[in-house]
Amino acid sequence: MTDSIATSHNFIAKIIQEDLANGKVTRVVTRFPPEPNGYLHVGHAKSICLNFGVAEQFGGVCNLRFDDTNPEKENQEYIDAIQDDVRWLGFQWDGDVRYASSYFDQLHAWAIHLIKEGKAYVCDLSPEQAREYRGSLTEAGKDSPFRSRSVEENLALFERMRAGKFDEGACVLRARIDMASPNMNLRDPILYRIRKAHHHQTGDKWCIYPTYDFTHGQSDALEGVTHSVCTLEFEDHKPLYEWFIANLPVPAQPKQYEFGRLNLDYTVTSKRKLKSLVDNHVVSGWDDPRMPTISGMRRRGFTPNSIRNFCDMIGVTRSDGMVEISMLEHALRDDLNKNAPRAMAVLNPLKVVIENLPEGHLEQLNAEYHPDLDLGGRDMPFTRELYIDQADFKEEYSKKFKKKFTPGNRIRLRHSYVIEATGYEKDDAGNVTLVRANLIEGTLGTDPADDIKPKGVVHWVSASHAVEAELRLYERLFTHQTPDKTDGDFMDFVNTDSLSVVTAWVEPALAQVAAESNFQFEREGYYVADRRDHAAGKPVFNLTIGLREDKSLTQD
Ligand code: ATP
Ligand code: MG
Repeated sequence: MTDSIATSHNFIAKIIQEDLANGKVTRVVTRFPPEPNGYLHVGHAKSICLNFGVAEQFGGVCNLRFDDTNPEKENQEYIDAIQDDVRWLGFQWDGDVRYASSYFDQLHAWAIHLIKEGKAYVCDLSPEQAREYRGSLTEAGKDSPFRSRSVEENLALFERMRAGKFDEGACVLRARIDMASPNMNLRDPILYRIRKAHHHQTGDKWCIYPTYDFTHGQSDALEGVTHSVCTLEFEDHKPLYEWFIANLPVPAQPKQYEFGRLNLDYTVTSKRKLKSLVDNHVVSGWDDPRMPTISGMRRRGFTPNSIRNFCDMIGVTRSDGMVEISMLEHALRDDLNKNAPRAMAVLNPLKVVIENLPEGHLEQLNAEYHPDLDLGGRDMPFTRELYIDQADFKEEYSKKFKKKFTPGNRIRLRHSYVIEATGYEKDDAGNVTLVRANLIEGTLGTDPADDIKPKGVVHWVSASHAVEAELRLYERLFTHQTPDKTDGDFMDFVNTDSLSVVTAWVEPALAQVAAESNFQFEREGYYVADRRDHAAGKPVFNLTIGLREDKSLTQD
């Protein structure tokens, strides 16, 4: 599909389309290059949808490459979780998972190549001195006193760095480019630093590690990546990316393109900040349903489609905008409304006794799961005693309450009969504790013969057959629209009431569903069977999102 609609709000797709049309490239190769130092978040989803999406759209391939040059911060848990997330979103990378670390030998050889060409040197300036020598945006840098070392000396020193002869921080290998460049990234950037760290892939083989800048473009070249798509903060690194490609005998000429990162209001999208929420036990883990991580969203009840549709909606531009979370919620609601099966749960039970049914009455009513889709149905036990929601019965009829159940009035029980309230009981505090009713015969699926219409349709469950379920009701994790863009600490804006746990009565079929099944609990909201804790004997559902947008939440 290479039509204009698919490329209309995605300038990267337009570039690729042109490159294919004029023969600049014959087969598109992209990559998604996460650093395995945390779980992926909704911002990464945008990058995944873009990189895998354009490859898919233009018949190319996308690699998954772990950008693993900081061993101290990385680990296998993140590597596994990231692969799960990409697959769950519905994408498949080309061939095996790749690691920048598998190119360490080649990168090391290329570092030596640069030294031999007089384009790299070992520098002994301390980090503080190096900062001073670097100058500023308005002031040129100064040459390091070590810049004029001979090729032989540099080769020997670099070999000693590799052999572990120096302490961490004692020296670095730098490219020799231009200390007066207006682009700070070209002021003799670091290529290698000493880190006596164990690496999750290469073990203890290396005690020097290449920097991101020295790794990224060359990895792209080794993989034959044609379009290396990254976020705008790398725009200033592009001349360096190109310098390496031009000055090394790389097997291909990848090109870097930058797009605007996704920022969502009421959300933080930085692995570092998300990690501190986890480490400080503000949330239960990376996949806490309040987290904007892909695994958190999955556990919350987002569907892959809802996230992919959202990424399509926001498009790909060259500016860093702020996207309203209501757009994400809209995409979610839209997908669930179209696709989620309907079922019934009563959160605030009020018992209804249908007095013209015998004790022990049991009728299995079959109810379809979806009004439009063929999702099959389930049996709903209909018995003499039911629960409806407390909010659906009132002692007196009023204008405000005209659609509901009051003495002498009728309602339809969803997928079931029409009943008429005949009386009720109250406790000492004046709360209605029980409603007495009569079933109107012959009203299963048709209106009453006497033409007295029910006032509305309410959800219900059988009091004797319903199952108790734990419902976890979530709200936004942050109370501020831009929690990490104020003068204060983003932690100060954590919503301490973002989780409440209630017990509800659910229809028995819901106790049997698989974890991660999405539902619309009719008139209540969209819920999902919790991925970790839901079990047949102990149903647990997470509130994914309410049925309608709550405008009060976005009005400041
Ligand atoms: P973070 O700041 O959350 O740690 P990162 O950019 O350091 O993010 P990486 O693992 O390096 O995380 O990101 C992998 C890819 O995802 C990169 O190409 C990066 O540009 C992209 N990416 C990260 N955050 C966003 C975002 N908010 N919107 C779009 N793309 C993003
Ligand atoms: Mg990064």
